[in-house]
Amino acid sequence: MAVVKADAYGHGDAKIALALQEAGIRNFAVSNVEEAVGLRKAGVQGQILILGYTPPENWQDLLDYDITQALLSEDYARLLAGHGVKAQFAIDTGMHRIGLDADDALACERVIRRFANDFVLTGLFTHLCVADTQTQNFFTEHQIAKFQAVADQVADLRLPYVHCLNSAAGLWHNRYGNLVRLGVILYGLKPDYTNVLPAGIKPVLSWKSVVTMVKTVPAGETVGYGRSYEVQKDMRLATVSAGFADGLNRGLSNRGVVRIRGQQVPIVGRVCMDQFMVDVSSLPQVEIGDEVILMDDSYTADDMAKAAGTIGYEILCNISKRVPRVYVD
Ligand SMILES: *Cc1c(COP(=O)(O)O)cnc(C)c1O
Repeated sequence: MAVVKADAYGHGDAKIALALQEAGIRNFAVSNVEEAVGLRKAGVQGQILILGYTPPENWQDLLDYDITQALLSEDYARLLAGHGVKAQFAIDTGMHRIGLDADDALACERVIRRFANDFVLTGLFTHLCVADTQTQNFFTEHQIAKFQAVADQVADLRLPYVHCLNSAAGLWHNRYGNLVRLGVILYGLKPDYTNVLPAGIKPVLSWKSVVTMVKTVPAGETVGYGRSYEVQKDMRLATVSAGFADGLNRGLSNRGVVRIRGQQVPIVGRVCMDQFMVDVSSLPQVEIGDEVILMDDSYTADDMAKAAGTIGYEILCNISKRVPRVYVD
């Protein structure tokens, strides 16, 4: 199951889902009904599962577009019941976000059976919260075992989709279930920055901009808003056309790096809304129009995230609509 929520982690959900469909993928997951309907309108077939909340009054969309809804709780199931919507019960095995509490497998069973005829019930799933951390494998295995116990209680219902694995668990854990919900790894990134991925997996996305101006700034001057960077000795400075309105994390102010003409150069001063500045003193040949690599397969979203104090997922999801996505083979 390809997880293409959040515009396919910023990569463009319709393009990505259609390419995956072309490659034979028949199961997709998103976070909300707008994403799901958008994919259907773009021509995505097969199963589309909404992992999060759909307002119960939107049930007609679920039917009209043949979308499968996660049932987040017994209360939520009650609100959505009676329309014959396709649905899968979420089971809470320890993340405590959504789902029926797996600690009481018999209570889960009762709820699942009670609603079995109010929906077209197609499955059960749980979500693992620490599968990317090998030192906590015991917790992940415990979650999977709890999930399996619930699934065993309702085995006679022969629900077609029973699934618990995300990217990290698909890589490193007990392969229980008949679907793996792959998100971040589809895009070539690591579930956790410290993980090592199998050889051959690399990020599919590069993020590029251009130098818009080059000038020399004398020692003693400051750069950018808040004057947060002070020039120590005369500096060649280049301005780049990208900023936090494009999703470039403001935490990269005075911390991030970009690549120009094959060389890493530091961001100086605060990242502005639409522009930022870099110290190109080491690259005297830099000129207006030069390509600037913000991110690619050698400096990844994970590397950028580390500099900004967040995770690669957030860096990718935040690349804003304003940045044109260009698809190459
Ligand atoms: C986002 C999400 C995934 C995908 O997680 P990755 O770590 O990106 O593979 C899988 N399952 C659920 C329920 C999710 O919310």
